[in-house]
Amino acid sequence: MRSFAYHRASGVASAIQLGSTDETRFLAGGTNLVDLMKCNVERPATLVDVTALPGLDQVDVGPARIRIGSLARMSTVADHPDLKATAPAVSESLWRAASAQIRNMATMGGNLLQRTRCPYFRDESGNVSCNKRNPGSGCAALSGVNRNHAVLGGSEFCIATYPGDFATALVAFDGLIHVRGRDSRVVKANDFFRSPGSTPHIENDLTVGEFITAIELPVTQSLRASHYLKVRDRSSYEFAAASAAAGLELEKDGRTIKDARIALGGVGTKPWRVRVVEAELIGKPCTEDVIRRAANHGAEGAHPLPQNAFKVTLIPRVIARALIEAVRLA
Ligand code: SF4
Repeated sequence: MRSFAYHRASGVASAIQLGSTDETRFLAGGTNLVDLMKCNVERPATLVDVTALPGLDQVDVGPARIRIGSLARMSTVADHPDLKATAPAVSESLWRAASAQIRNMATMGGNLLQRTRCPYFRDESGNVSCNKRNPGSGCAALSGVNRNHAVLGGSEFCIATYPGDFATALVAFDGLIHVRGRDSRVVKANDFFRSPGSTPHIENDLTVGEFITAIELPVTQSLRASHYLKVRDRSSYEFAAASAAAGLELEKDGRTIKDARIALGGVGTKPWRVRVVEAELIGKPCTEDVIRRAANHGAEGAHPLPQNAFKVTLIPRVIARALIEAVRLA
């Protein structure tokens, strides 16, 4: 690891001032950033520790909205009793992420900003072709090991999967991300994450000097009747092969689907909202047959490679299973 300067910000204003150069990174839980510094992917000249910023670790679950401070720990949010009742898919997405030790340390803002697990991106030598790490160098995964890579949203420049679980739930339920820099702004979670296109090194909407202060979710009936399903190679401490955050609201007749929300994780270059499936469900009777037929549209537009083609089969199954679980709460 290279040497770097360390500053501890005492307030938002000082954090913004200290973090205003491209060579600076904000440090919160450090569970991803320090890893990436150890394998030379991240090489900041300066770290600005934001963990002492006051008030950013609060979780507020109200009747109309949920507000989660960016410095709240994953485990705190996952186990928040009001959040578990109001947003089961959000709690489940956090419980199924990482390990207990990491959930105790990692923050919610940092969770959103975690970077891909593509082995070429994280290669310690740094001598492999990776457009995300070294723009213009190529993509070793296209002809190499790509079993865990994306089938949705990729480009000829990058097919790395976005690895997070919580962001999948956030995108499904129209979450908002509050950002502070020289100005304050609010970004839709669905717009915050970027597809790689020809610039895979640009992964999200943050610009230099900006950091996340809070995450917000509108409370809806679909969120109350929601489920997060994660399919992976082992039952703990593993990233998703495919996952789905799903929620349903029924009409007063108790059988017609009024609203449906579905987003996928583990299969896209960003958390992947599947509106085509939502549209197939709304207005239809809430039966298993209807759900399975709609779920079959979930992999439309996929571009699989031989090693990750199994995800195309998996996608309709995780969507259907997540929705069937959500029906129990609707
Ligand atoms: Fe790099 Fe993306 Fe290719 Fe992986 S998939 S080697 S992160 S460019």
